[in-house]
Amino acid sequence: MLLVKYDSIPMGSVTKKDGKMSRKVIVAGNWKMNKLPAEGAALAAELRAQLPAEIFAEADVVVCPPFTAIPAVAEALRGSAIKVGAQNVHWAASGAFTGEISAEMLKSVGAEYVIIGHSERRQYFGETDATVNSRLKAALAAGLRPIVCIGELKEEREGDRTEVVLAQQIRGGFAGIEPSAMAQVVVAYEPVWAIGTGLTATPEIAEATHRFIRKEFASLFGAAVADALRIQYGGSMKPENARELVGCPDIDGGLIGGAALKAESFVKLIREALGK
Ligand code: PEP
Repeated sequence: MLLVKYDSIPMGSVTKKDGKMSRKVIVAGNWKMNKLPAEGAALAAELRAQLPAEIFAEADVVVCPPFTAIPAVAEALRGSAIKVGAQNVHWAASGAFTGEISAEMLKSVGAEYVIIGHSERRQYFGETDATVNSRLKAALAAGLRPIVCIGELKEEREGDRTEVVLAQQIRGGFAGIEPSAMAQVVVAYEPVWAIGTGLTATPEIAEATHRFIRKEFASLFGAAVADALRIQYGGSMKPENARELVGCPDIDGGLIGGAALKAESFVKLIREALGK
């Protein structure tokens, strides 16, 4: 079992949403393979200027640039409430892993979060539930906050296999994780058919799937952990649909691709997600 020691308070605790004691919204931008360092710093500076302090009482905001832009973005956001994340992390601390990057390396340039198991990594780079699990353990052990992505393919949804697939991803990806470590984790439910396609799950479909995911985590880690777990929706979320999606009881924010690449749309999306 993984031993983790944290010196930070549990994130995402107790914010009111829809009048209920609930989870704090978290919106993260996945910039994917976009933005040179100067471009990333410029976008970060715009976000910093356009997001007023009161937003951060209600939402955690994270941007995940490519590795090369992390230092410039972290510098542009120094002293701001906007946090920086990476898009992948290796499970080893160092060694002969050409092209990979360690948790300590990410922390050394200012990353606090890391996306793990994004569907593009599963699809194009051989990511499996086992490698997700190894990366997750390394991130937690180093004190990074993981955003773990799960989601079904179009044919899995159409073949009525969504729940089986998600349960498998959860059980494989989270094997051996201590319940106490789950306070640091964010899960992103991203139906693969909705990523970058302009197709979005309807709020009804997204909410039903989030509810199922929360139930799975409850059976693995107990009801208290599952109730506190923040589950983002990802897949063509934009300002026009963010309010309705994040307004659903089990949807706690978004992992945003395309709409995170411009300050105007990302800021608008965050405001809509908060109903502002
Ligand atoms: C993503 O890649 O995580 C994503 C949700 O992308 P998009 O918002 O562009 O669909």
